Amino acid sequence: MDIKDINLSAELKKYFGFSKFKGQQEQIITDLLSGKDVFVLMPTGGGKSLCYQLPALISEGTAIVVSPLIALMKNQVDAVNGLSSDEGVAHVLNSSLNKSQTKQVMDDITNGKTKLLYVAPESLIKEEYLEFLRAVKISFVAIDEAHCISEWGHDFRPEYRNLKGIIDRIADVPVIALTATATPKVQDDIQKTLGMNNAVVYKESFNRANLFYEIRPKVNVDKEIVKFINQHKGKSGIVYCLSRRKVEEFAQLLQVNGINALPYHAGLDQKTRVANQDKFLMEEVDVIVATIAFGMGIDKPDVRFVIHYDIPKSLESYYQETGRAGRDGGEGYCLAFYDPKDIEKLEKFLAQKPVSEREIGLQLLNEVVGYAETSMSRRQYLLYYFGEKFDPVNGDGAKMCDNSQNPPKLVDAGDDLKKVLEMIKSLGEKFRTKDLISIIVGKESAVTKSYKLEQTPFFGFGKSKTDNYWKSIIRQATVQDFLKKDIETYGVLKISEKGNQLIAGQYKDAFLIAEDREYDLSQIKQKSDSDQIQIQAGGGLDQVLFGQLKELRKTIAKKHG
Ligand code: ADP
Ligand code: MG
Repeated sequence: MDIKDINLSAELKKYFGFSKFKGQQEQIITDLLSGKDVFVLMPTGGGKSLCYQLPALISEGTAIVVSPLIALMKNQVDAVNGLSSDEGVAHVLNSSLNKSQTKQVMDDITNGKTKLLYVAPESLIKEEYLEFLRAVKISFVAIDEAHCISEWGHDFRPEYRNLKGIIDRIADVPVIALTATATPKVQDDIQKTLGMNNAVVYKESFNRANLFYEIRPKVNVDKEIVKFINQHKGKSGIVYCLSRRKVEEFAQLLQVNGINALPYHAGLDQKTRVANQDKFLMEEVDVIVATIAFGMGIDKPDVRFVIHYDIPKSLESYYQETGRAGRDGGEGYCLAFYDPKDIEKLEKFLAQKPVSEREIGLQLLNEVVGYAETSMSRRQYLLYYFGEKFDPVNGDGAKMCDNSQNPPKLVDAGDDLKKVLEMIKSLGEKFRTKDLISIIVGKESAVTKSYKLEQTPFFGFGKSKTDNYWKSIIRQATVQDFLKKDIETYGVLKISEKGNQLIAGQYKDAFLIAEDREYDLSQIKQKSDSDQIQIQAGGGLDQVLFGQLKELRKTIAKKHG
């Protein structure tokens, strides 16, 4: 088959009924059909499935689609089978099939009927399947949700690790890897692990211009959320909480306050879960209070707000979860509550994990803290995290965040930045933020001792200012491109070209950071504590809310024994 002879637009119309390709789909498909390896980074909802479904449908042989979730595979298989009048165009192969079903699948593949075969990686390693697949004609291999390969992604699956070896054993065919996770670290991991360094990379913008981002200190959070939802009465929304218990409690709290809400988490029985989800999709219920278990593969276009009761464990999760708002391009308000205490809890939780998981988890948390505390455009910060430049003044959606609408007072910290950069350079560019802060404020640590940093002229040069001030300088310098975080050793800070220009006195602009928004953590804590007391002593909505909450907690505690 010659790619030049194919009218892709006609095939798109024929199979999917769409008259136009979305984004870069056409180039992606053309490259894949010409035998190239392709790597697709595209946000959720961008139309990744079609990038392998269409070429599979028009190619000779069967495309193997690796996907992590059986439920998602089943949906896709049904959807693909609906596209064609022939039976068995798409199949799932896994151990849930009985003997005769397995035979049917294998027969359909052998007879050339099956164009797409969905498999989970753990099924793919089975010798009997491997042997079979080696013997039939495979068109290409698609690896969906490819970030599952990386421990730096939000959904690491060890079974994804060995895919390269397995694919090599099956056939020498093009590979297309697709993901909605685009941090440079994950991208690098995927390409290395799959041996796809020569792949053509397609990356679409992750900017969601219609979403509004706001972070509030986690003070009076129950009341704040009730108020917010009441201001958006009748609209669809999701409230994410980290624990199942919180989900149950908070759903009930919303209910007693007249909000049409239901809980969703993996601990509920299957029937309740499906029923609650369906009610949300059918608009019988406005608000779903959920753990992260909710949302995978759910495509409700008119979710108007996503609230994070607890700050998520990574910016990746935050982006995915907030991304469920405003899928139709309409309003999407993303409100998250931030309390440094929650970060400490997550850190403690990580402390029990194996070293590599812990290290990774802590780095990811660090990025969350940076985002929550930043005074710059949230959109710019988030997109920077995905390796994307964003103009906070003229970019699409530039005004759509709390910081952009209500900018903090800025000061020029250029002189302090210069000192920091000079220090990093003369120390050989080998330290992470935490260690650099210890040196700047003159706090001894294992690292400062082992490198004898106490004896350098830098030790304690910045002790007249707070840790937080210096942290925000380093953070801003990274986001504004004066420093770069090394990908390989994630977190070690190196001087960028722009940074070197600043050191050489060639950089003439100001380096602005927020003066009044250092996010002094202890202050926020104090504030939240005193507010707590006020609420309990006060009247009105607060008292009603908390009175009911107390009762609820008692009932729930009884229920859970
Ligand atoms: P992703 O996997 O990137 O999250 P999907 O493959 O699930 O996205 O596609 C998201 C939606 O976009 C689906 O409803 C799909 O039918 C639709 N879609 C994909 N390609 C096109 C197209 N060319 N024209 C119109 N709609 C499309
Ligand atoms: Mg997808």
